[in-house]
Amino acid sequence: MNNGDRHMNGDGGRLPTVTSDNGGFGETSRRDFLKVLGVAGAGAAATSCGPPDMSDKLIPYLVPPEDIVPGTNVAYATILKNGGPEHLGLYANVRDGRVIKLEGNPRFPNRGRLSALAQSALQDLYDPDRTQGPRKLDADGFVETDWDEAIAAVAGVTAPGRTILLTAAVTGTTAEFYAEWAGAIGAEWIPWEPLGLEALSTAHEIAFGIPGIPSYEINRADRIVSFGADFLGTWLAPVEFAGRFADARSIESGHHAKFTHVGPRLSLTGLNADEWVSVRPGTEGIVALAVASEVARRKGGGAAARLEGVLARFTPAAVAEHAGVDAARIERLAEDLASANQPIVLPPDVSGQGAASTEAHLAVALLNLVCGAIGTTVRPGVGPTRGASASAATMRNLIERMNSGGVDTMIVVGANPVYGLPKSLGFAEAFAGVPNRVSLGSHLDETAAASNWLLPASHELESWGDAEIRPDVWAVAQPVMRPIFDTRQAEDVLLSIAAGTGRTAFEAEDWKGWLEAGWRASYEQEVPGQAPFDEFWFGLLQAGAVRRKPNQPDPAPTLTPAAANYPFTLPEHHSGLTLTTFATAQLYDGRGANRSWMQELPDAVSKAVWNSWVEIHPAAAEPLGLETGDLVEVRTSAGSVTAPAFLYEGIRPDTIGIPLGQGHTHFGRNAQDRGVNALDLLDDTVDGRSGALAFAGAPVEITAVGRRGKLAIMQGNDTDLDREIGELVQIDDALEAIGGHRVDLRQILEHAWDSDPKSPYRWAMSIDLNACTGCGACVTACYAENNIPTVGEDLSAQGREMSWMQIMRYFEKTEDDGFQTVHVPVLCQQCGDAPCEPVCPVYAAYHSPEGLNAQVYNRCVGTRYCANNCPYKVRRFNWFTYEHPYPLNLQLNPDVTVRETGVMEKCTFCVQRINRAKLDAKEAGRHVQDGDFQTACMQGCPTQAIVFGNLKDPESAVSRISKGARAYHMLGELNTRPAITYLAGVSHARLAQAGHGTHDEEHSEENGAAGEHDSAAEASH
Ligand code: SF4
Repeated sequence: MNNGDRHMNGDGGRLPTVTSDNGGFGETSRRDFLKVLGVAGAGAAATSCGPPDMSDKLIPYLVPPEDIVPGTNVAYATILKNGGPEHLGLYANVRDGRVIKLEGNPRFPNRGRLSALAQSALQDLYDPDRTQGPRKLDADGFVETDWDEAIAAVAGVTAPGRTILLTAAVTGTTAEFYAEWAGAIGAEWIPWEPLGLEALSTAHEIAFGIPGIPSYEINRADRIVSFGADFLGTWLAPVEFAGRFADARSIESGHHAKFTHVGPRLSLTGLNADEWVSVRPGTEGIVALAVASEVARRKGGGAAARLEGVLARFTPAAVAEHAGVDAARIERLAEDLASANQPIVLPPDVSGQGAASTEAHLAVALLNLVCGAIGTTVRPGVGPTRGASASAATMRNLIERMNSGGVDTMIVVGANPVYGLPKSLGFAEAFAGVPNRVSLGSHLDETAAASNWLLPASHELESWGDAEIRPDVWAVAQPVMRPIFDTRQAEDVLLSIAAGTGRTAFEAEDWKGWLEAGWRASYEQEVPGQAPFDEFWFGLLQAGAVRRKPNQPDPAPTLTPAAANYPFTLPEHHSGLTLTTFATAQLYDGRGANRSWMQELPDAVSKAVWNSWVEIHPAAAEPLGLETGDLVEVRTSAGSVTAPAFLYEGIRPDTIGIPLGQGHTHFGRNAQDRGVNALDLLDDTVDGRSGALAFAGAPVEITAVGRRGKLAIMQGNDTDLDREIGELVQIDDALEAIGGHRVDLRQILEHAWDSDPKSPYRWAMSIDLNACTGCGACVTACYAENNIPTVGEDLSAQGREMSWMQIMRYFEKTEDDGFQTVHVPVLCQQCGDAPCEPVCPVYAAYHSPEGLNAQVYNRCVGTRYCANNCPYKVRRFNWFTYEHPYPLNLQLNPDVTVRETGVMEKCTFCVQRINRAKLDAKEAGRHVQDGDFQTACMQGCPTQAIVFGNLKDPESAVSRISKGARAYHMLGELNTRPAITYLAGVSHARLAQAGHGTHDEEHSEENGAAGEHDSAAEASH
């Protein structure tokens, strides 16, 4: 939590409000800003019946509302269901009526952390491109209408048996509501997610008779193998998994689980693996079977005996050629797994989802069984709950019904099938033939643009709701601010439509009443005789979640006869190039595409921003004469796309990879006409068992177009040129070194320039490269907290990005000619002897008594000498005054100055949070202590790689960690005495230069010569 925040209940009547006034300090004046604050506060005090129309009045806080203290954040607990693959618990920090920051709720499986995509939900909320009121289609396009007309018109066309309600996948009371609503008016409800988990669920039902998603307890494992799941980036529950993964590899705690990635391409997760077993796309399943067959042979046991018939055909030798991998490699992996105490194996994600995806998932489930993981590290049926989702096969049937005239009305709630299904399925054409097309969503996305009624739904941060996070954990969502535009809660609109049909009447007056009634009924049934429901509800809104069925035993997984005799097949094999498509942590299925923070967050693999790219192995690119950035045409039987090439050694030479999420034709200014939609390359191939779409495995051809494309890549060099920037050590070296000391903190603490000897503080940070996965959550948290502008693709390509924090991704060669990756967050090092300070002619860059390199914005005249002299290249110059168009300006943090043209800026360890913590500590009559506050990047990091605190407090975590055996200073030989201490990454691989990355003690003591070395910038741009 940010310091100064107050946790409040979410009583709708006391919620703060915000005006739709178009003023704001991002664009204009202090007067407009005050007007927003005045109206916000007054609205909150006034009523619970919607924002009052006071847009041209200034109302002072003569009688302040109870839960608004000017200048103080109020934290409301809620959930994000649309923030990526997982449901995330969070606190929305609300200041004077507007949400300015989202931070994780520690009570949830995401342990108080959020992904970059979830943090950017703020930009979705304040998106100027949201639909701002009801619209209807006429001859001139969409025109404004009013809610009464729109609801009456839609209610009039919801004929029983000919109406479809198509929604995103939902759980909890929300799912019950949709089912009941559809039943009452005679509609059919189809929930659908583009990147569904139907193959995973189907496979576990076949294997153990337990449908649903297993719980993957990675933290308990001593050996981790993933058959392609990008579980740290985009698969299932990446924020939760990142925390668990960091726990499994916390070397100072005495264990460091080795991690192997099996698949055709290294994703964000793959780059964190200790080894890569490269196999052809779509062969993950048979390789899993071959590993299972070897493990069964070595370990024996009841499961091995029962699976003998299935596994006998899939020996390593039998699948090696088909999968394009050495049999010996499979055997080594099996040996590792057989000897592990607590192994865990994770299945493929969509990038490995071919025409037989259920088989691949089933193969991994059986491998977990023979390894002994089922029931220990993998617990079927008790994992994250995602709700039912129609498969691609079901959607194909729906399209056929639409084409045959069987659907008169389709109401689409929070889903975008026109974009999210492959063009080859023909959803767009079929949808155009449906007479009444109603979009009940927040944006004018592709589906909304093809509709004839737009009923704008409130954003989930403006809405009531709930979700089943796990079978035993339920959570509630509450509106954390009043709607910005003329929008309504989607469920309330559906209730009004139902009432308008005249065919049904629901007991609840509105959705909030329905939700509360549902919870009341469950509460009174499950815990009769306990505290009154109102008390429980009040507490729930404060906590965000509740455990509903404590001590429920896990379903007992027993191998079914169907699985023991499953007729696995060898996938089809072709000799040419094969396609794989994959989600990215920034855009996921495309939902992040209109958020500039996400477009400008460099991809963890390619480091590209604002565009699509085609991943090609250098060996495949060479005959075509392709370089990174050259345009390449990619063709399949379903279609073709043209995008810039990205040469990447982390993809097989026989595989082509393209990210999902770009190529929107609508959706808003940042998303539209940007990159390509990789779904255009997919045909209608689906898995025969689950109906899941084949995202991988299509034969593909590529042609060099002969022109350069536009591709802004935010990292110039793939290695740190051995200059003590990103350090990686072998596990044996790391284990040997633990207990030794490498960084001499006395030097930093005792030097007058580092911190005033009379000050109790020397602010410092440690960053553990063993924990950092490169997810970028810290970068986005920093954008949100510090009002950092985005600059767009062209300025990014010129190196004029404004991000105060960058994650550098460096490759290190291994003895077997592979490579390992270390992700290095780079930000201002707050040097004790800072090269930037003495060169500023106007003393704008100065050293604070607490050791910070402060930057006085209104003194800066823009000479940029400081940036030239910074060896870390972390200073950012405002070449322009960047826009925050309304209502994006309402997200800006009032504690942080919005910078303008001509000003240099950079990280100052969230000095606004430091100052607030100091004021609070002063009131309490003490100094700031560990735990009082966190910097935004530390707060956001899912792996807790970042630790911030006071180096002068010998008991602080940062003091302790900074003296660790893996500690080093970036470019330490320059002797800038940084306040940031890095802990070297740890790998199980044999690095090409054994021992590389370890330091002599003398490194921390010798004075390096600044002139002898190039800057880090050369490696980074
Ligand atoms: S330090 Fe940043 S990039 Fe690394 S894991 Fe933490 S949030 Fe992600």
